Amino acid sequence: MLPARRGRVAARPDVVVVGGGPSGIGAAVGAASAGAEVVLVERYGFLGGNATAALVMPLMSWHNEVRGARARGDDEPLRLLPSDHGPGEPVVAGALLGLMGRLLKSGGAIAPSEETGYTVPIDPEAYKSAALDLLDSAGVNYLMHAFASGVTGEPRQPEGVVLETKSGPLAIEAAVIVDCTGDGDVAAAAGAAYDVGRDDGLVQPMTLMFRIVEFERQRFEGYVRERPDQWKGVCGLWELIEQARAAGELDLPREDLLFFATPHEHEVTFNSTRVSGVLGTDVFDLTRAERLARQQMAQIVRFLNKRVLGFERAYAVQSGTQIGVRETRRIVGEYSLTAADVLRSRQFDDVIARGSYPIDIHDPKGGRGTLLERLPIGGAYDIPLRCLIPRDVDGLLVGGRCISGSHEAHSSYRVTPIALATGQAAGVTAALAAGTRVAPRDVAAGAVQRALLEQGADLGDRVIAR
Ligand SMILES: Cc1cc2nc3c(=O)[nH]c(=O)nc-3n(C[C@H](O)[C@H](O)[C@H](O)COP(=O)(O)OP(=O)(O)OC[C@H]3O[C@@H](n4cnc5c(N)ncnc54)[C@H](O)[C@@H]3O)c2cc1C
Repeated sequence: MLPARRGRVAARPDVVVVGGGPSGIGAAVGAASAGAEVVLVERYGFLGGNATAALVMPLMSWHNEVRGARARGDDEPLRLLPSDHGPGEPVVAGALLGLMGRLLKSGGAIAPSEETGYTVPIDPEAYKSAALDLLDSAGVNYLMHAFASGVTGEPRQPEGVVLETKSGPLAIEAAVIVDCTGDGDVAAAAGAAYDVGRDDGLVQPMTLMFRIVEFERQRFEGYVRERPDQWKGVCGLWELIEQARAAGELDLPREDLLFFATPHEHEVTFNSTRVSGVLGTDVFDLTRAERLARQQMAQIVRFLNKRVLGFERAYAVQSGTQIGVRETRRIVGEYSLTAADVLRSRQFDDVIARGSYPIDIHDPKGGRGTLLERLPIGGAYDIPLRCLIPRDVDGLLVGGRCISGSHEAHSSYRVTPIALATGQAAGVTAALAAGTRVAPRDVAAGAVQRALLEQGADLGDRVIAR
């Protein structure tokens, strides 16, 4: 037992959004633009979630594929971005475009095109500023350095969130809470049912990402031209890795190295460490994972310096503030999105966001492979409003990677652009619920769609609001 304590109510807005990652940014902008008074709460001193805290620097594609990717000519420059995505149309818009516009203006991103494989390399420092500018322009209030540790109110009927801060315990009471923590921390504290991982409980591995600078692109390009069998778009170096492994210099769970270009010529970002059998809602697992991943990172840097052309003088200028956590709780909602919904491009009358990213599962067992299953040509799937509404908790919505879906569907809708879109929809629904004093589950899907369309969201052609 811990002693009882008193806290101060810091604010009573219409909507409190917990978590300042892509879904939280989307939710806060969505709710404020729909007329609500909003406070966004974030545990770190900056926004962006995985994109900044874990250095997940490319935004994955939010374009479908209307044609297969064309074969690259031998004389084309080395892009270090995915080369397997053919031309397509965007399926996410809304608040994502506000963020993108700011990033592009500051030189902190490269616009999506066939050349970038429709991914968007970003600069995390520019992203932090762009996110703040976007929230300021939408009139969102925010509180940083505040960790949500629980809720106030009756079981399954939360009335506010409890925050641990340097100023002591605080509470923010709101008509509606939007949980954008990625982990579903607030929903779980409120008593929402959730699933974790696949049937055996295993989740996707964690990855400590890091940025390498003083990279000599032309020297590396020389190696790839000589050994085209050793590099495919964004990953490879199999033979050099095997040599280092045989010499006892490298012991990695991955069989290759995976890295991406950034907006900066002499920088690349590495997605190559891998720690499995750990859960991001377990502090002991997180601690062990940080240690193991940092050992892997040190090995990789030594390997690059010693064996890979173009990396002789390179060094790791920054690693994630924390290890990247791909998968934890998925809150059980009124509908759970399935792999079949994703792969068959299913449409729903209560669509509130769309996605086209493949099912992408890094082996939870720690094997070396990654399962990638694409949607059919031209395909995009709808995400229904019901995925954002916890089945058994009132006054609360979820956005981002903790929405309701299967392990497989999650591996697609977890990516940054889709997380931002489901967050925006959760924010809009929260604002409408607060404004009309009804429970989020009683807000008409058509009203949410109308508000989202007014905010420039892309909802495809199955919208009942039209
Ligand atoms: C290693 C890795 C590689 C990935 N690669 C890509 C990629 O290349 N491209 C891509 O588009 N996506 C990628 N993803 C997926 C993507 O980064 C995430 O799924 C996405 O960021 C999810 O957004 P979110 O807002 O739901 O959660 P998050 O980004 O996790 O944001 C949650 C926010 O809430 C805050 N928070 C958490 N708990 C609390 C609390 N209790 N109190 C207060 N604040 C809290 C966190 O600090 C964070 O800011 C990758 C993910 C990982 C881990």
